[in-house]
Amino acid sequence: MINMKIAYNLLILSILVVCIWFVYVSVDSKAYYRKIYRGILWAAVLMYLNRLLAVSMEQDLISYGEWMLAAERLVHYFLTLAIYTLYAYFIFCLVGQFHYYSRKRKIAFWSVNLAVNVLLITSPWTHAIFYVEDGVAYHGKLFFILILTRGIYALLATVYALMKRKLMIKIFGQSIILLAVFAVIQVTQFLICHDETMYYSTLIVNIIIFLLTITMVEFYKDSTTELLNKKAFRQFIDREIGKPGNEAVYLIKLKNYEYLRDNCYEPSVMVLVRQLAEYMKEYSMLSSIYYFEDGKFGIVVRQKDRFDENTFLDRLKERFCVPFELNGASINLTLFVAVLDVRNGKINKDNFYRYFAVCDGLKYRSNELIEVVRSDSFGIDELQRYRNIEDAIERALAEHEFEMYYQPIISTQTGRVVSAEALIRLTDRLMGFVSPEEFIPISENNGKILEISEYVIDSVFRFVKENDIAAMGMEFVEMNLSAMQCMDKNLTEKLQYYIHKYDIDPRRINLEITETATNFDEHRLKEQLLDIKKLGFTFSLDDYGTGYSNLVRVLEYPVDVIKLDKSIVWAAFTDRDSFVTIKNLISMFHDVRRKLVAEGVENEEQMITLKELGCDYVQGYYYSRPVPKTAFIEYTKSINN
Ligand code: C2E
Ligand code: CA
Ligand code: CA
Repeated sequence: MINMKIAYNLLILSILVVCIWFVYVSVDSKAYYRKIYRGILWAAVLMYLNRLLAVSMEQDLISYGEWMLAAERLVHYFLTLAIYTLYAYFIFCLVGQFHYYSRKRKIAFWSVNLAVNVLLITSPWTHAIFYVEDGVAYHGKLFFILILTRGIYALLATVYALMKRKLMIKIFGQSIILLAVFAVIQVTQFLICHDETMYYSTLIVNIIIFLLTITMVEFYKDSTTELLNKKAFRQFIDREIGKPGNEAVYLIKLKNYEYLRDNCYEPSVMVLVRQLAEYMKEYSMLSSIYYFEDGKFGIVVRQKDRFDENTFLDRLKERFCVPFELNGASINLTLFVAVLDVRNGKINKDNFYRYFAVCDGLKYRSNELIEVVRSDSFGIDELQRYRNIEDAIERALAEHEFEMYYQPIISTQTGRVVSAEALIRLTDRLMGFVSPEEFIPISENNGKILEISEYVIDSVFRFVKENDIAAMGMEFVEMNLSAMQCMDKNLTEKLQYYIHKYDIDPRRINLEITETATNFDEHRLKEQLLDIKKLGFTFSLDDYGTGYSNLVRVLEYPVDVIKLDKSIVWAAFTDRDSFVTIKNLISMFHDVRRKLVAEGVENEEQMITLKELGCDYVQGYYYSRPVPKTAFIEYTKSINN
């Protein structure tokens, strides 16, 4: 009959093999704690193999010398200590981000293990931890140090895990308690019986608990970033918000993530996101970080986290000043940071998600690298309106409710209509008129802009097809391209497609671009614009005077016309400096053979002055508001004939 002890060890070994199989094939995860877990598994396999040897020796199944017994003991003590150390390391990495800690701390962590191992390895001569005499192994005088060290590692990990329990998901807290219970059993049994029977049987239980924990924890982890995911966030919020000790929740969004996702090579976007996750981990000190997908991160800050907002934001700013790499090109990224103050109870369990959604839906208002918004500066109404507009956009797309209006652009020399700007209109049956200034940014956020722009391109091209622009005395029609459209890698093909569809001359269409488009990959933008120009289109630079408007940079783009924004046009009539600025701008742009349009011309005085300054074209309510195409055609005919 097969020996019971051997059978027992073989059973445990086979369970370990199953664990190894499972951990290697189940999830393709590169998480650091998984590596450590694998380390524990292999150490355990070696340990039980060594046990088999020990049992065989005990029962005289094999003949052995004293050196063999010593080697068996040495390997055994070495491995048990290694497993305890790895166990602690595993917990630290799983709960905190120990592998990001400084080298000093890591060295301190391992040095205890190392010191005891030195004692252990020299034991055959010094008899410190153990020794073998007359074919029997005995504990040395310093044996307690080995036990103590194991205990310290186990205790450290357990206490740390219990401290951080609240930040972790529920199952994790429970499994840690289970592990602690087994640790107590092991120690008590050892103290009473001075042997390690319990240790051998509970070790395998611990290993299985670890495996279950990892598998469960991974339901709550984002696989790209290894951060906790939205599910874990919900669990935390439901359990903790409103309780004292919590300070703030940060929502951090990568602006234009949607654009990157839709237009760039996915694996490289993932690399970028992973990089960002690393920065967040590093910069957020010890607070817990979540990744919600779509370029959105969450950070929960608790009082005892010693999190300093200014330091955090400064470090982010420092990083975001420098472009990121994407597909070998460099791209400037910007962040939106919403801070929800959860200290005073204004934001509580009941309304947390509404506030959170408001933050998430807020439109971006600045071009700063890091735009920060605080929960006390906005209300629920803003959320409601944002959502309503998103719905209105959906409806308008489904029911073809968008419409194009045209606003004439007049030559100051001849007083004739030389072109028109096509402007989109949305009149929703529930919300009434919604300004494009409101819904275009929303559609850029949620990606609907590309569908809207299909509509715009189609109607403007059809307008050009159906009306003989040249015969009406006009050069072209101006069509707005949003920043995101400019970076749409299919834009050139799309335009080509519509040229063929309506069989029109691209010279009859001028594309208005804005400087915000240059926030993206400038190199690619330039290439794309040149490709489009080759098709025959011309460009205008819109909203000049609202951004950082750098003259030299503007000239790097193939634009023929500069449109002075209405804000600087109006300013010229209220303050002297702006007047001089406009005057100089006009002459400078003329020197480099660019034409100028002044927007927002609302009265005769403005028109006359701009004409005197040499501005080539004017556009504004003084002539006509944007109007439906039939009204526009009538207007143009009446002026031009
Ligand atoms: P924009 O490109 O700067 O368009 C000029 C805006 O100034 C238009 O506002 C026009 O109605 C307004 N405007 C023109 N003359 C005057 C004036 O004398 N006084 C005043 N107060 N305003 C004047 P609108 O139509 O509300 O469009 C706002 C913005 O929405 C546009 O600014 C543009 O950025 C965007 N947009 C409009 N249509 C489209 C479109 O088809 N595609 C894209 N991508 N964006 C569009
Ligand atoms: Ca425009
Ligand atoms: Ca403009």
